[in-house]
Amino acid sequence: MRHIVNEGETIAKIAYMYGIRPFDLLLFNRHLDSESAYVKPGTKLHITNSISQSDPFDWDGKAEFSQVDLENILPLMKSMGVGVEIIGYSVMRKPIYALTVGRGEKEIFYSGGWHANEWHTSKFLTLFIHQLALKDQMDEEWEEYRIQKLLDHVKLVVVPLVNPDGVDLVLQGIYKEHPFYDQILQMNKGMTGFDHWSSNIRGVDLNHQWAAGWEIEAEESPQQPWSRHYSGTKPLTEPEAKAIYRLTKEHCFNYVLAFHSQGQVIYWGYRGLEPAESNEMVRRLSLKSSYTPIHTADSDGGYKDWFIKETGKPGFTIEVGVGTNPLSPKAFAEVWSNNCLLALEGLCLWDR
Ligand SMILES: [Zn+2]
Repeated sequence: MRHIVNEGETIAKIAYMYGIRPFDLLLFNRHLDSESAYVKPGTKLHITNSISQSDPFDWDGKAEFSQVDLENILPLMKSMGVGVEIIGYSVMRKPIYALTVGRGEKEIFYSGGWHANEWHTSKFLTLFIHQLALKDQMDEEWEEYRIQKLLDHVKLVVVPLVNPDGVDLVLQGIYKEHPFYDQILQMNKGMTGFDHWSSNIRGVDLNHQWAAGWEIEAEESPQQPWSRHYSGTKPLTEPEAKAIYRLTKEHCFNYVLAFHSQGQVIYWGYRGLEPAESNEMVRRLSLKSSYTPIHTADSDGGYKDWFIKETGKPGFTIEVGVGTNPLSPKAFAEVWSNNCLLALEGLCLWDR
């Protein structure tokens, strides 16, 4: 059998799809020199002894997660009553999806995949909303949370993958046909590895794009497009950040949780502008996850910062996992078990 590599695919993902080991792919495709080699779109691979996997959910963490995986799950999500909406497009014109469950008046917003090397957060949020829809449909409890009743009060909006171009770059590297080939190599000083990349495809950090002390953060950060931390020439120059801005403006979120991956901590303040109830809320999130609450990271320009400043409502940055980004695919199991309760408790924070 032959497989032609799609955008956002890796050796681990292709092996998982066919139910074989990454090592088997190397055996029959001698042009691949290691399990972590990049495989560019259009590459032809020989597949042998495959047992096709019908389960799109890789709970054990055998493979990475990107836009193509999210899009594969969308038809299933729709069939379960999950709302699927395109809220904008990335620089490379990939759709940015918002998924919605629940019927209630309390609107809550979860987002992930802001940084290119933090795809665990995208996978977590996608699988979380799928489980939520399933429990709602079956009227089942989940960890003693009565989901159907909860979703009568709550509408949860989730954007699992804010930065699809960036995630694909981290997973697949750069190749001649890539429309940003020259710019990316220049920004990356000629290096061809992208594990450290967290920006979008134009070298702008999407969590540095927000009008909350933006000037302060911009001054202390790189002054030109870069793999990380470049704030752009002004707030909201990037289409991915604009899409989140519009979505936030169109809704009336009671509070927001933005998921990132590094440190197992929860940031909950912004220059003292956060409301008093944020303190009690973060205590509850921390109890459910054992992540440490930290008032502020002494930084500006983030989405959570802007949300707090703009609305006066609570905003949280959840840092899942610990180690070096990108965390290994195997780390997903721990991310899942540490964050399910936190994300469930996040649906009830309005209820004191
Ligand atoms: Zn991040």
